[in-house]
Amino acid sequence: MSKVTGRTVFVTGAAQGIGEAIALRLAADGFAVACADMNVGAAEAVAARLEASGASACAIAVDVADRQSVFAAVEQAADRFGGLDVLINNAGVAPITPIEGIDYDLYRRAFDINVGGVLWGIQAATKSFKQLGHGGKIINACSQAGQVGNPDLAVYCGTKFAVRGITQTAARDLAHLGITVNAYCPGIVDTPMMQKVASDLATNNGQPFEWGMEQFAKNITLKRVSKPADVAACVSFLAGPDSDYMTGQAVIIDGGMVFN
Ligand code: NAD
Repeated sequence: MSKVTGRTVFVTGAAQGIGEAIALRLAADGFAVACADMNVGAAEAVAARLEASGASACAIAVDVADRQSVFAAVEQAADRFGGLDVLINNAGVAPITPIEGIDYDLYRRAFDINVGGVLWGIQAATKSFKQLGHGGKIINACSQAGQVGNPDLAVYCGTKFAVRGITQTAARDLAHLGITVNAYCPGIVDTPMMQKVASDLATNNGQPFEWGMEQFAKNITLKRVSKPADVAACVSFLAGPDSDYMTGQAVIIDGGMVFN
């Protein structure tokens, strides 16, 4: 991967899990990193780690479900670093939803965060790139669950299929501005989100936590659950110049679960 200097990235959900790993990797790649999260205390801790390692970083409070909050946060990051080159819509939630138990509030909240958050992030990045007079890269969190339906995840799969559709459409709509839009599709990544999904599934089935994790892990070709850093390496490629001739793609980085 080529080293990037003088470029800025805005990452949502950067306080933990995959977003934290992306922040660490892109700082190592040479980006100044705005760590945006609704858990601003934890985002501050990540930004402090980055600064201690010699990178430029800051923490920014954001609720990605709130359009105004996303616009304000992206503007704050661009002001803080004097630019914006890459925006990563990583924040998301993954409720377990057996079909008959889905209620309106759960459906609404998941779509507001996973789908609304991506739309508002795309809009805010586009506004910022236009103001700055250049193009940029937008990268969205999809999932293997945005490629194939997963049991008990109807709402989550619906949001991630939507992210793939929005990514393809935004790529076509924004190409004339020099903006590329791609997505990454992780498989089973060992983060607080995945640990909760596995725990909920196990509880719903009267089984121990390890059984829940195994239900997701057993069909991985590479026979191991993903580390957040595996996904961050894919995002590093999507954020850097080696992916310049690529747009509208949802790259699967799942250890071999879905073959397209
Ligand atoms: P995580 O739950 O460990 O971390 C998510 C982060 O997003 C948290 O810091 C949380 O505070 C933040 N967040 C949640 N809602 C927010 C909101 N409304 N506004 C701002 N921040 C908010 O999750 P993760 O496992 O790191 O997942 C990151 C992304 O990757 C998600 O979009 C997820 O759907 C996707 N993904 C994860 C996996 C996996 O196995 N962990 C697999 C495929 C895709």
